[in-house]
Amino acid sequence: MLSGLDEATAAAPSDLEIVPGIEMTAAWKEGPRAIHVLGYFINPANPQLQAALKKAEKAMERHVDTVLAAISAVGGTLHRQDLDRYRHRYAGGAALVLGMLEHGVLRGAPPGTGMRLLRLAAAEPRAYTVGEAVGLIHQAGGVASLAHPTKIKRGQPLLSTEELTPLIAEGFDAIEAWQWIPGGWGSHHYVGVASALGILASGGSDDHGKRAADGAMRLGAQPVPLEVLEALRERALALRPG
Ligand SMILES: [Zn+2]
Repeated sequence: MLSGLDEATAAAPSDLEIVPGIEMTAAWKEGPRAIHVLGYFINPANPQLQAALKKAEKAMERHVDTVLAAISAVGGTLHRQDLDRYRHRYAGGAALVLGMLEHGVLRGAPPGTGMRLLRLAAAEPRAYTVGEAVGLIHQAGGVASLAHPTKIKRGQPLLSTEELTPLIAEGFDAIEAWQWIPGGWGSHHYVGVASALGILASGGSDDHGKRAADGAMRLGAQPVPLEVLEALRERALALRPG
């Protein structure tokens, strides 16, 4: 979604550069976990990118409606408005799961249906594959970076160069090495992976607004070397035709 960009630009002091960026949730052929694809220096007005995002948003709306209908079919109650407090921009599987837990839907569900509802909620639709998301970012004049590699495999934060090779081969220009990680470990490892793969490193706080848990924001919490930004900018310019 790109709806935060205007807000950010309006709120930023005049000496702060706002790099137009995006995080896209994409389907990956290996395993059920979605891959998050970051784009930097994109043109937010690019029609193909906008159309793809619209398609993703519509598919997610239909998914939410389907799950809400399934809940009411077993006698439960959960409303679209109930999901507002969990969502960052629009509601998806995580908001549905949290909503079901907090509104007692699972406790009240007939035996055997709770698990089915949870699985249904978690089965989010994906509007694009990793390769398609990377392609859309390139089409919009941006560079693509693999978001938070520490979160790709549960319980295995440090993935090897070999493990990441097939993903990076989808066309990534960079991997997110500097990121918010408790304790700060990991960055060094992924800077090494990026250099072994011959791609750039990127960094960021993965801030998605106030967290429901403590109301805290991570915006600006992750320092990233300035040369990282300049290398991404150069790469974006090099990718653009003419
Ligand atoms: Zn993410």
